[in-house]
Amino acid sequence: MNSASTRSADIVVVGAGLAGLTAADQLSRAGHDVVIVEGRDRVGGRIHTVEVAGVPVDAGATWVAPGHTAVRDLARRFDCEFVPQFHQGKGVMSFGGKRKIESATSMAPWVMLDLTRIMSELQKMVDGLPVSSPWEHPHAARFDSKSLGEWLTAKHALKDTRKFLNMFSLVHWGAPVGEVSLFNVMRYIKNLGGIEHMLAVEGGDQQDRVLGTAHTLVSGLAATLEDRLLVASPVERITTVGDRVTVETGKHTIEARYVIVTASPTHRSTIEFTPVLPQRHYGLARSWRLGALSKAFAAYDRPFWRDEGLSGEGMSDDETVFLTFDVSPDADGPGILMVFCDGRAFDAYDDNERRRRVVRHLIHLYGEPARHTIDYTDFSWGNDVFAPGGPNPAVGPKTWTTFGPFLREPVGRVHWAGTETADETSGSMNGAILSGQRAATEVAARLDAGQ
Ligand SMILES: Cc1cc2nc3c(=O)[nH]c(=O)nc-3n(C[C@H](O)[C@H](O)[C@H](O)COP(=O)(O)OP(=O)(O)OC[C@H]3O[C@@H](n4cnc5c(N)ncnc54)[C@H](O)[C@@H]3O)c2cc1C
Repeated sequence: MNSASTRSADIVVVGAGLAGLTAADQLSRAGHDVVIVEGRDRVGGRIHTVEVAGVPVDAGATWVAPGHTAVRDLARRFDCEFVPQFHQGKGVMSFGGKRKIESATSMAPWVMLDLTRIMSELQKMVDGLPVSSPWEHPHAARFDSKSLGEWLTAKHALKDTRKFLNMFSLVHWGAPVGEVSLFNVMRYIKNLGGIEHMLAVEGGDQQDRVLGTAHTLVSGLAATLEDRLLVASPVERITTVGDRVTVETGKHTIEARYVIVTASPTHRSTIEFTPVLPQRHYGLARSWRLGALSKAFAAYDRPFWRDEGLSGEGMSDDETVFLTFDVSPDADGPGILMVFCDGRAFDAYDDNERRRRVVRHLIHLYGEPARHTIDYTDFSWGNDVFAPGGPNPAVGPKTWTTFGPFLREPVGRVHWAGTETADETSGSMNGAILSGQRAATEVAARLDAGQ
């Protein structure tokens, strides 16, 4: 349904990521007339497949934790299987250019002690946070008044402790510790199940991958929506007059009774709303900017690092490459390293420079054989033409307590979804599904009440 059109529906869902597809699917299965409108020329949003050495790999969301039941239920519906993340052998670490293989002594004992001290203090502060309204915590304003970096300084964290937490921050919020509010960090730790859970492979957030790629989940949903899905149609205007809402893209005009916007909060501001949104909603959109995390994939004949007893898990304070994982489809090959890159510098380099930097650092971590790639690809989320950035908002100090309460507060006939609006597992695919279900239920209740 992509030629120009004017039509009506009960509900328009804006955004065909996992949240939007879930909301549209739930509403249409309940018998409502839904149209879903996506700005990009593809579905999936922050779930996206690219290929390396002929193997489809996840440029965006990859892992599913054991407790991510919403993802697991969806996978069951489309007969998707999971594969455990490869986690056998030793990791490699490189701080300040010094490479070490993981062992009981690869971190100095005083660094281990300091890291344990800082992480348990952080976890203790997190434990008292209410999940769905964290801003009600009696010390919310104090926690939100500083960045994670400022808190680490106040706690006299050692340099290596800070480097470790910087990686933690880069991979979760796409920003270094100095740019994210301590409160934002605490809220994510709370709703993702604790620091240890966030770092763990077995039993934690990195436990499983979807066989093939995570895109199987979204393509399954998109197929059920067929002609109710419009792609390459960025929504430009949403106008409410009386009990009707008109959603306009460059090509399409859709009249509906309700709208669910699932764009990440910062991208809500690309839409012109009439009447204008309350100021706090604009403040929210302005300050909830997405971080910058990108991924590269280097392919080899075989996962050669396994021969040396290495797991392919690498950790580094290099300015480009800071984490690696083995996502090889088979022990016989090809061997594939998934590489997390700090998008702030990475996204600005040209193709050759990005590849050169990644391969150079892989040689540092895994030795000369890492030079002999059979293929390479990467995906710079910061260069994505439509709604760039990822993986989650790098919310700065004083923002949560000011704007957090309005993340999912409906404005008239406009409701909000998207992983950022979920109480549990926000920032993950599971959170996206839960948010889509919650928004669909809200709107269905209003429709059923004849509003
Ligand atoms: C590099 C990276 C790694 C990640 N790793 C993991 C992981 O391992 N496990 C995990 O669970 N999660 C991971 N995530 C997070 C996960 O991808 C997201 O939480 C989830 O996909 C968000 O889904 P969503 O539907 O809420 O938002 P999105 O996927 O962002 O969907 C929103 C959609 O709205 C569209 N849109 C925006 N504005 C408009 C407009 N004006 N008109 C029309 N359409 C619009 C966008 O194009 C997009 O398709 C990762 C993300 C990234 C980027």
